[in-house]
Amino acid sequence: MIIIQHCDPLRRHHILAYYSYAPRIFGYLAGLAVILASFYTSGTGYQENPWVMSFLLTTCLIWPHVAYFWAKKSNQVKKVIIKSLLFDAFFGGLWVPLISFEPIPCAVFITVFMMNNISAGGLKLFIKGLFIMVLAMIFSSLLINPTIRLESHMIVIFICVPMIILYPMVFATINYKLTRILILQREKLLHLSRNDGLTGVFSRRYWEQRLVEEFNRCQRSGEKACVMMVDIDHFKNINDTYGHLVGDNVLKQFGKLFRQLRTSDIAGRYGGEEFAILLPNSNLEESLLVAERLRQDIENTQFDSIGKCTVSIGIASLDKQFEDAYKWLDSADKALYQAKNDGRNKVNIWLNPVR
Ligand code: GH3
Ligand code: MG
Ligand code: MG
Repeated sequence: MIIIQHCDPLRRHHILAYYSYAPRIFGYLAGLAVILASFYTSGTGYQENPWVMSFLLTTCLIWPHVAYFWAKKSNQVKKVIIKSLLFDAFFGGLWVPLISFEPIPCAVFITVFMMNNISAGGLKLFIKGLFIMVLAMIFSSLLINPTIRLESHMIVIFICVPMIILYPMVFATINYKLTRILILQREKLLHLSRNDGLTGVFSRRYWEQRLVEEFNRCQRSGEKACVMMVDIDHFKNINDTYGHLVGDNVLKQFGKLFRQLRTSDIAGRYGGEEFAILLPNSNLEESLLVAERLRQDIENTQFDSIGKCTVSIGIASLDKQFEDAYKWLDSADKALYQAKNDGRNKVNIWLNPVR
């Protein structure tokens, strides 16, 4: 069953209505061709009956458009889609006695209608649709007192072929498109839930999750890792002088800079103008080099509207003495505080006081 999750449900169902429009038109036109072929080859004479013909032409030529616009205009698209599928099953059921229960076209009709029902509503809608189809067959049989013919003329079988071959292909293409939409929307949602909207680096929540994972992994394996806290110097002055929008733009540029770090490094926005970077597989010397290069790059960057801007950086290497990941982070924060006290635009390392 195709479910387009994680987007506005109304939009999701409108997409579903849109994608079921073309297959419905195709299905009804192919069905009409099969029924007319059966009329002309079986000698039942239904093609002469104005009631039968007006019912057939109305359902096959008008109903698919009515179903689409009904769903399009409705606020309860899902319900309308389900109701339309049940109408389809009803019409399909009415057709069966009209073609004298010829097994091949009947099997094609039942397969196509039930395929739609299973796709939209699983087993439950399949059973409901089948039940309605059988009721419609009984109703139609009572009205027209049909003959039963267990063979079909070659023309009827020939006209069934496009439906047998093309309908599953159209159906599969649409399911593929819907699956793509689902995957893209999932990716978009994942990005939204993991990344900070302004800077594009990871959000604090997701970054902390990664920090805890890395902490546990390295404590188990004994691997080295460092964490860096980066705070923009005198950012309040930037806001006060140039306004919040310019401040936001500076933060965006910082985001871009942090996204250009090594792919293994994990950058997140920790607070307003404070960023945290996790450096897996890096010892203190390597991390110091990364931090110093970052500090210099920022010092040499020309930021839009404000020109120059600097950062202070605190680094803490993972130590066995840390009880948890937050103690590790806290140590980097202490080192940052010291960098600020040392006059800003500095990199400072947290040193274990026990050693
Ligand atoms: P220091 O060098 O000591 O870090 O000074 P600072 O001015 O950078 O630090 P302070 O903590 O005094 O001010 C941080 C400012 O960052 C205050 C707040 O208004 C601003 N800020 C926080 N989040 C945002 C944001 O999303 N956009 C903008 N434009 N400003 C923000
Ligand atoms: Mg600051
Ligand atoms: Mg700060």
